[in-house]
Amino acid sequence: MRTIPNFIAGEERESLSGRTLDNYEPATGEVYSRVTDSAAGDIHAAYLAARDAFPDWSGTPASDRSETLLKIADAIEKDLQRFAEAESRDTGKPVRLAAAVDIPRAVSNLRFFATAILHASSELHTTDREALNFTLRRPRGVAGLISPWNLPLYLLTWKIAPALAAGNTAVAKPSEVTPMTAALLGETCAAAGLPPGVLNIVHGSGAGAGAALTAHPGITTISFTGGTATGAEIARTAAPMFKKLALEMGGKNPNIIFEDADLERAAEVSVQSSFSNQGQICLCGSRVLVHRALYDRFLQRFVPLVENLKVGDPLEPDTVQGAVVSRAHRDKILGYLKLAREEGGRILCGGSVPQQVNRRCRNGWFVRPTVIADLAVDCRVNQEEIFGPVVTVTPFENENEAVDMANGTRYGLAASVWTRDLERAHRVAERIDCGTVWINCWMLRDLRVPFGGMKDSGVGREGGDEALRFFTEPKNVCIRMNQPGRNG
Ligand code: NAP
Repeated sequence: MRTIPNFIAGEERESLSGRTLDNYEPATGEVYSRVTDSAAGDIHAAYLAARDAFPDWSGTPASDRSETLLKIADAIEKDLQRFAEAESRDTGKPVRLAAAVDIPRAVSNLRFFATAILHASSELHTTDREALNFTLRRPRGVAGLISPWNLPLYLLTWKIAPALAAGNTAVAKPSEVTPMTAALLGETCAAAGLPPGVLNIVHGSGAGAGAALTAHPGITTISFTGGTATGAEIARTAAPMFKKLALEMGGKNPNIIFEDADLERAAEVSVQSSFSNQGQICLCGSRVLVHRALYDRFLQRFVPLVENLKVGDPLEPDTVQGAVVSRAHRDKILGYLKLAREEGGRILCGGSVPQQVNRRCRNGWFVRPTVIADLAVDCRVNQEEIFGPVVTVTPFENENEAVDMANGTRYGLAASVWTRDLERAHRVAERIDCGTVWINCWMLRDLRVPFGGMKDSGVGREGGDEALRFFTEPKNVCIRMNQPGRNG
């Protein structure tokens, strides 16, 4: 059985302690590899490698950095099926989703930032006729990049690509639950000629390797994606050390369907937005709010579509719903289904684990896609992030009530709004407190736009120029042009 090593200074290394963690395949519930379990000493070794690589990498022309990142992107694309299968086995997601979305998007992340850096510009301000102020942007040094298990390669490259493109070096810590695509990425980087130490990947638990990375005094930039409680803990450590922080955290996103919406389209896209990746995407809509006039007709359309989603072995090409990521996560989701019943919810479909999926997956961690009605908007199931294939449906009477419901949680990541009324679309988009509002669509992404959350969903923005700015330090350089009173 393979043991996944760290990737430090361009080499594979075991953890200093020699300890490993089991890596489970969620679809079978069985251990299928091991991963090295790192701690503070390993993080420090990775930091030293990144620190030593920084002067050369930050001094490398942007065009050369770009070329190396493009080579890595090309290599992943060439090996797409291997990456997709690794991601599917690690996460339980359907291999067809990994092959169609996750891995191609990781390739896009690398290509986007590899080329964005070639067009990066800086500001210049002329102070009367006396001085020129220009903003010099320099890479910040060694960046710490912490990513979650739900979109492992996509979210890791979403951080690695801008950090490296801007001239930083990095220590990355993927989730211990899904280390496999990060391991393949390390191999790919070495083969593509990324200089040793520019990217270091350290595996291990959040409490061990993750906390050590956050606390390391030399790693002064931290970009984190994960749960809100973890984000708060990272902020508690990093803030007194004055680290630069970007936190991308949880969500409880509303889909708001007005009475004039295209019903068919709203129902079809709501199925995708609620259940893609078994509902384990931070941007999934988990609260469907529907105008009372359309509510019954919407459910007649929506619920059968959900019932028809094929739960199956993630490695089979026609599977639409795979396994959820771990036994603990499956049990958490089932706990919320129990709570929903206690809170007065009516299960319209799903609500349990499926009959045996197939022989290979008889011990896997699956949950049937579930729709729940009749819950109060302030009950726990409607307030807390479940992060699974579970959606609630709630009617509203008017626009104000819809906006109040949408804003009525601690989160503010994303929303999708369905209406044919352009004025209302603009009005509602402005009134919802969240980082992204989709109108009559979901998950359409343009990598140039700022991405992030409001309230307990995030601090800072990633994406496009925002990401390149995050990984650089601006310095104002003021040059006097004329002495006052001279030269006219
Ligand atoms: P998580 O438990 O917060 O873990 C995220 C990462 O942080 C993992 O690598 C984890 O390592 C590490 N970690 C855990 N404790 C740590 C600590 N004390 N110090 C430093 N690092 C630590 O989140 P998750 O369960 O993997 O992911 C699901 C969550 O991510 C959901 O809340 C989802 O909404 C959110 N998410 C947000 C976005 C966004 O863009 N806003 C995108 C995707 C997911 P281990 O896994 O090894 O413990």
